[in-house]
Amino acid sequence: MKHRCPWCGEYVKSPGDRYFKVKKCPYCNNKYTNYTKSFVNTVFINPYLAVVISISFLAIFGLISMVPYFVIMGVLLVVGFFLPSMPFEKESNDYVDELQNKAEIIFYSAAESGLKYIRIIVKNKEVFPICFVDENNKPLSPMIYVSTEDIKWQERECNCTMNFLQYGNIDKEYRPGTRFYIFYNNKKIGEGTLGEKCG
Ligand SMILES: [Zn+2]
Repeated sequence: MKHRCPWCGEYVKSPGDRYFKVKKCPYCNNKYTNYTKSFVNTVFINPYLAVVISISFLAIFGLISMVPYFVIMGVLLVVGFFLPSMPFEKESNDYVDELQNKAEIIFYSAAESGLKYIRIIVKNKEVFPICFVDENNKPLSPMIYVSTEDIKWQERECNCTMNFLQYGNIDKEYRPGTRFYIFYNNKKIGEGTLGEKCG
């Protein structure tokens, strides 16, 4: 699974398989990392993974049998499935002040977008290009890079907070109510409406 730079939105390489490895984005020169905060978040907010890890711990302490099985299963699940799906995070000692707005997004059906499991793609801190459009669907903006947070789902619709990345092409502030398209892998996957500014 490919991810974008959390500063500028360009596709960048994974920092690698070590937990605290930091890499520099070749496009904007800022540092990013993965597998750290988002890994911890995933462990604690994902009930499925929490159960798998709990079972693995019970096995480690000898409270259930098949110790090797559960340990291996836990490791495989984490390494093989969850970690590659983690977005990258900014590595900085300073507070990063980003413009934030609420947004309502309707993702197209699996048949239209080609994305069956939209909730694996759209998650906390994942970065997407969006383009604001007018009432005739004509572009009003360049491709602007945003990350999604506080996502609340209803079928294929979500309410979320959109963070406009610091170096993500934002050319001006757009008014609440402005419509936009959202893209993934160069494909339009949904459309949304900008909500109130946060903070
Ligand atoms: Zn970058």
